[in-house]
Amino acid sequence: MSILKQDLLELSFEDLKTFCTTNNLPKFRATQIWRWIYCFGLKSFEDMKNISKTDKYFLNEISYIPRLEISEIHKSKDGTIKWLIKLKDKSEIETVYIPQDDRGTVCLSSQVGCTLNCSFCHTGTQALVRNLTAGEIIGQLMVVMDHLQDWPSGKNGRKVTNIVMMGMGEPLLNYEEVSKSIKIMMSDDGISISRRRITLSTSGIIPFIDIAGSDLGVNLAISLHAVNDDLRNKLVPINKKYNLEELINTCRNYPNLSNSRRITWEYVMIRGINDTVEDAKKLVELISGIPSKINLIPFNPWPGSLFETSSQKSIDQFAKVIMDAGYASPVRKPRGQDIYAACGQLKSETEKIRRSQINKLMPLHSI
Ligand code: SAH
Ligand code: SF4
Repeated sequence: MSILKQDLLELSFEDLKTFCTTNNLPKFRATQIWRWIYCFGLKSFEDMKNISKTDKYFLNEISYIPRLEISEIHKSKDGTIKWLIKLKDKSEIETVYIPQDDRGTVCLSSQVGCTLNCSFCHTGTQALVRNLTAGEIIGQLMVVMDHLQDWPSGKNGRKVTNIVMMGMGEPLLNYEEVSKSIKIMMSDDGISISRRRITLSTSGIIPFIDIAGSDLGVNLAISLHAVNDDLRNKLVPINKKYNLEELINTCRNYPNLSNSRRITWEYVMIRGINDTVEDAKKLVELISGIPSKINLIPFNPWPGSLFETSSQKSIDQFAKVIMDAGYASPVRKPRGQDIYAACGQLKSETEKIRRSQINKLMPLHSI
């Protein structure tokens, strides 16, 4: 009879300790294995030098350290890299690496597709939706670090320095798995990326904003996109459940906000919809008193999208109001456009199945 082997990337450090003790391995093995996996990027037990031959053999019988299957890699002329990853159930997700002067940022997906259907977002139009597991989230980072040869994780000049949960999906509708994978990324004995360099982007799932703040303490980015409820209800329909006033108040109380730890407000610039000088003034008013950064994202059109990008003139005028209010350089430079790596273009070609069928198979958090 074949035993079902344990995928070690699905385990938190605590889980790994329990896994070792329930299999009659000493607890300290957990620390050793953890370091080999997350400091050195090992994919097999063979090279784990401080583990006895017998234990290596046994570990190999009961567990494995997987890598996600890469179906395509695209490299942009600006250095941005995008991976299309095929999961075991054949659904697909995307992961992006964006090198900048002083940092290298990995943009991770948290779900296959997204249930929230924001009207400007390509991911939201994908019919197949499911939560990713912690192993599938951390697995994306492993793929990037393997490709960039960024092991061991503690070395000087590391290529991956920052993480943003801004790929496919709504991370706060998959909190359990997202938080587990973020804790793995932050572990000092492993990949060791500081909470200050991790940003969680959400369309505003209020109950989980508080939880993420106290449990993870990572940076928060809010997909605002409109400054009144009428328009936000249309652009970001989850606003009907969690409205602007409640959202802003929740953000005001996000733990440990200061000038060095600010909330990022993402605002997609859509021509003739949300891009007037009045909107900009209202935006500044709404967030006043909250330590903030503003990120204006020129709308990225996709085939069949209903909207157009704001004109350069509107973006400049909007940005000026924001800069005059004391916020620095707010316009996000598009990256990787030649490989469609930009926000809102992330959508896999996974076979479409009717959502009612999916919901029966994989109930998501009720929202
Ligand atoms: N679901 C989360 C994180 C993923 S989306 C969220 O909504 O925050 C990451 C960012 O890309 C969000 O700010 C989202 O609003 C933005 N985005 C989505 N589609 C876009 C598009 N077509 N053009 C520009 N930005 C877009
Ligand atoms: Fe989902 Fe974010 Fe896209 Fe909205 S913008 S549909 S929340 S991925």
